[in-house]
Amino acid sequence: MWRATALTLFPEMFPGPLGESLAGKALKQGVWSLKAVDIRAFATDRHGTVDDAPFGGGAGMVMKPDVLSAAITEASEPGMPKILLSPRGAPFSQARGRELAQGPGVLLVCGRFEGVDERVIEAHALEEISVGDFVLSGGEIAAMVVMDCCVRLLPGVMGEPASASEESFEDGLLEYPHYTRPAAWSGPDGTERHVPEVLISGHHGRVAEWRMKQREEITRRRRPDLWARRRAASGNEEK
Ligand code: SAH
Repeated sequence: MWRATALTLFPEMFPGPLGESLAGKALKQGVWSLKAVDIRAFATDRHGTVDDAPFGGGAGMVMKPDVLSAAITEASEPGMPKILLSPRGAPFSQARGRELAQGPGVLLVCGRFEGVDERVIEAHALEEISVGDFVLSGGEIAAMVVMDCCVRLLPGVMGEPASASEESFEDGLLEYPHYTRPAAWSGPDGTERHVPEVLISGHHGRVAEWRMKQREEITRRRRPDLWARRRAASGNEEK
């Protein structure tokens, strides 16, 4: 069973959205497990202090190394990747999600306040992961992002095993547009919009070709960074 452990000051936030839909069903079925460890339970004073003012001054509070470290030590398991959610971390990706999904699980440390004492990161060799170039108020939602990405990649979680491989980012391209019935639909502006002809042609080869063209066009327009990387990669293959 794939095991997720979240270290957090707000254990009641879990499973939250991960208790619903695909991830929730898989959780109930025992495809994966989720444990939320309350960092505050490791506080050593009677007030349950978990943070303190930063050395060197400045705004905000910092999570205390002793308390957080005790929580990490208690929750750690040999061979389990230890991750700190952090805006400073390596950008999370589908590729990293896939790697993590293939392992035993993940231990996710959720920061709060200004962040955590640097020495904890060093001492526990935490891998820092960011979910994007913006700042959240805590690591919990970021941890759920990582868990959700991994869980839907676990065997048996998604309806159709093939549906993951054609998705955005799996091969460096964004997804093609989707359509379903009715074939002609009038939107709020009264304009009748039709499904692209090729999709109702029943011609699998042409459908595949059209979809690939769409993926390339959408990626080129919306994500020049992905497009450039893909072009560079295929260039290298040719050499
Ligand atoms: N002072 C920090 C921001 C702290 S936000 C800075 O300037 O970088 C509080 C906590 O929210 C962080 O410790 C981290 O655990 C989480 N967090 C905020 N933004 C995040 C992001 N983009 N990715 C992952 N975790 C994030």
